Amino acid sequence: KLTSREFHPQDTVVDVEGVKIGDGSFVTMAGPCSVEGEEQIMETARMAKAGGAKILRGGAYKPRTSPYAFQGLGEEGLKIMRKAADAHGLKVITEVMDEAHIDVVCQYADIIQIGARNMQNFRLLEAVGKTGKPIGLKRGISGTIQEWLNAAEYIAVQGNSNIIFIERGIRTYETATRNTFDLSAVPLIKKLSHFPIIVDPSHGTGVWDLVGPMARSGVASGADGMIVEIHPDPLHAWSDGEQSLNEKNYLKMMSEVEIMVEAM
Ligand code: PEP
Ligand code: MN
Repeated sequence: KLTSREFHPQDTVVDVEGVKIGDGSFVTMAGPCSVEGEEQIMETARMAKAGGAKILRGGAYKPRTSPYAFQGLGEEGLKIMRKAADAHGLKVITEVMDEAHIDVVCQYADIIQIGARNMQNFRLLEAVGKTGKPIGLKRGISGTIQEWLNAAEYIAVQGNSNIIFIERGIRTYETATRNTFDLSAVPLIKKLSHFPIIVDPSHGTGVWDLVGPMARSGVASGADGMIVEIHPDPLHAWSDGEQSLNEKNYLKMMSEVEIMVEAM
């Protein structure tokens, strides 16, 4: 298989407009769960950059559990996120939920995120594969490692070898955390595949004060980076405030992560 270590023994390095993922460095992607407006995304981009993140995250098309919840700002959200990222020298990762939005997302984003709920949306995987853009492939809510690898294969067969696995926790019987963060996936994916893998301790735990410890554990597990949710005012975030870090806690986490990275 194209994604397998046997087929391709060396690590694949994904180049995101000059930011390399999988080259032995630890790359942070930070930003709000949802893009809420120009002021919010500008301020969050400033925070992200101040902590050392290289890539701005933010959703403009949101996969919400309830159809009555905020669904994202759409193209307007993409536009202001791009502007905020450019103002701070950051790249952009954002989710695409629908084939119909691939073209518009490609205009503004550097990495296309496939959300957990779409890990096995095979037509969507084929379609994003055809773009040739770097793809951040989240692990499905109940995705096994084999299913996840097969999902990546759907992208790779389209000729796209810019795949980044994102471990974001899986559903188990435990309810004290939002998901059960499966750190063993990191060395396992590295053993089975040549593509880089990053961790998402925000969705992996769902609890803001567990994010830092799990981010550090992500470094220890050998991850190539992380994606974290931060917000200037988490209490008033339009989505995922409970798991978002404010500036002070984000900067603290980043300095602790830095120490871990240096120790590795
Ligand atoms: C997100 O990144 O905000 C998100 C919706 O993540 P997931 O697809 O992992 O639930
Ligand atoms: Mn979120």
